[in-house]
Order: sequence, then structure tokens, then C-alpha cells
Amino acid sequence: MIQVTAPCYLCGKPSVLEGLCADCFNDGHPLIEVSTPLTLLACKKCGSIKLADGWRKIAGDGIHPDDVGDFQIELLLERSIKILGKDVQIALEDERKLDRVTHTVMKVTGRSHESLAPHNEKYDVEIRFRYATCETCGLMSGGYYEAILQVRADGRELTDHEKTALTQTVTDITVARYKSDDKAFITSTIEDKYGIDFYIGSESLCKYLADEFEMQYLAERKDNYKLVGEEKGGKRKYRITILIRLPRFTVGDFVRIDGNPCEIVAMGRNMLTCYDLKRRERFSINPRSARWRTLEFLAARTNRREFMVTTYSYGQPVQIMDAVSFEILEVDQSIFESEIAVGEKIYALQLDDELYILTQHSDFNE
Ligand SMILES: [Zn+2]
Ligand SMILES: [Zn+2]
Repeated sequence: MIQVTAPCYLCGKPSVLEGLCADCFNDGHPLIEVSTPLTLLACKKCGSIKLADGWRKIAGDGIHPDDVGDFQIELLLERSIKILGKDVQIALEDERKLDRVTHTVMKVTGRSHESLAPHNEKYDVEIRFRYATCETCGLMSGGYYEAILQVRADGRELTDHEKTALTQTVTDITVARYKSDDKAFITSTIEDKYGIDFYIGSESLCKYLADEFEMQYLAERKDNYKLVGEEKGGKRKYRITILIRLPRFTVGDFVRIDGNPCEIVAMGRNMLTCYDLKRRERFSINPRSARWRTLEFLAARTNRREFMVTTYSYGQPVQIMDAVSFEILEVDQSIFESEIAVGEKIYALQLDDELYILTQHSDFNE
């Protein structure tokens, strides 16, 4: 028997599917659905765009300023296109940009039915740009803040190195949390000789930063809630100020633990790493340990003396010269841990009559 294919009921060509030829089937079954024109509402300040579920941030995506417009269009299209076909691929082919309107041609490839071969379709979409200020930028420019993070140091000023490191951490964490927290921004930073105050848009960001600094610097922490007014309905509104007090000592300084002078080699993550200058060994101590309570501040790193090895021969006392006073001292070879050479620069701490040679570790920056 001869199989007779019925003709397409629209155009008369042989039919392949549901009484239609492939072309007529494709015509009736588009690969995507997209409406035109589309409105793109963008924040003039930061480039965020408003989607059905809120503002979609652009900052932090590493988009070059020249490409922000295209990126915004892609994000909007991603949300606005409904895929109907199979194996659908979409490419933006052509763009015509006017002042606030962009015409774009989308080339779409795919199958309208799994039994049919892929085909191409073209869609013209007009995108109309409108501008506004997003919530985050609005709050930021209004000076909004929910919390203040104050960083101080115990009995001393913050060092420049600490200030730089603190500010860098605040910046990094704020940027990292900005995507998920609309109020993750720093409204202002006030720096004076006592320390730094960060005025922070989000209370949860402030607490996160405080946790981080508390742990990293083995700092003391005080949370203070201050009544700032009443909300509608009489609920009291508080603003939190968190005080982080860094210890008197920092990396490179000298403390006494269990009666022994120690050099602080590293600190962080609830752990202080020290070098015991008497026992000449490294150890770690946790702020919750009993030994911690014996800790007292001895001297700042600036109190160490710089020497140069002037004479050294095996079995003989070593002669070292103070780099500032040029005073020559003779010390026993046994106080050196590692090999030394004439001309080498060494550091030592003078405590009472004792001279302690410091190790050459490189755990902290000069
Ligand atoms: Zn047909
Ligand atoms: Zn914005």
C-alpha cells in the first residue's frame, strides 16, 4: 500500500505534524514569547534595575561602565522572555540606540516540536529606559544609618596600619554583603585620634563586622542600644552602637605571659601566637584560657633595638653594634637561634639587664 500524506490544511504542502507542514506548524508555535515595548527602570546612581521582585543590583558584577546599558537589557530580557520551544538559544543581533530607547533584534534558534528540525526566528524588541533612585541609593544619600561601629584601642591610639586594615575589612565585607542586604553601605566614616566610627546602613552588617573584629583582634566588645524614638503604634525604636576595643598590644609588641617576656607574632581567630623570649619557643594562647589572665603589656614594637653583627667567629662571643647609638655589645653565641653572619641586621629587646634576641620571622609586615 502506498502511504499517502495528507496535504497541509493551510498551504497544501505535504503535512508532517498535526495536519500541518513544518513551516505552518512553526508559524503557529513561536519559540519564545516576549512583549514589546519593555520598560527598563534603572537607578541613575548605581545602575540597579527594578524587576518584579525588587531592585537587581549591578555593582559588584564587574561590569565596565560602557557595558552597563547592555547588561541591564540582558537582565531585563532574561526576566521578560518566556521560552516556549525546545533547545532555544537567543542572541542579541542588532541594536539601535536612541536617547532613551533601544531597539534590539533577537535571533532565536530552536525547535517548536521535538520531531521538527531547528529553525530561526527574529524578534524586534523596543526597550524604553526610565530612571529613578533605587532604595539603597535613596537611603544612602539621605544619610540613613541603623548602627554605629566604634573602633578604639585600649590605652593607645589606633596605628595607621590598623586603621588601613580595619577600613579595608569594612569595605570588603560591605561589598560582599551588598548583593543580599539592601542596607549594606557605609553612610560615613569619622576618624579622629581616638579611633574610627563607621555609620552603617544595616544593623546586621554592623554586628557581622563587630563579630569579625572581635575575633580577629581579640578585642573587647560592648553593645549599646540607645532609644531614638517611637515607631507608629508606640513601639520603641533603638539604635545600636557597638564599641570594639582593640587590646593595648598589637602584632610585634611585647607582653608578659606566665612571667615570661613574649613577642606577639600573630593574632586572630581567637588566638594569639607568641614567641617566648626566655624559653625561645612559639606558642598559641586563647583569650579564654587561664594563662590569658596573666598577660600584661610590656613594650611596644618600637622599643626594640636594632643591631648589626660586627664580629662573629665560632666559639667566641658575638659583637653587635646598636644601629642608633653605635654602642658595641658582646653577647653569648647561644642566645642566637639560627645562623648569623657579619653585617646582618638583628633586633633585640632590652628588659632590665637582659637582652633578648628576636626571631627573624616574617609573619607581619614592617
Ligand atoms: Zn503549510
Ligand atoms: Zn541605586
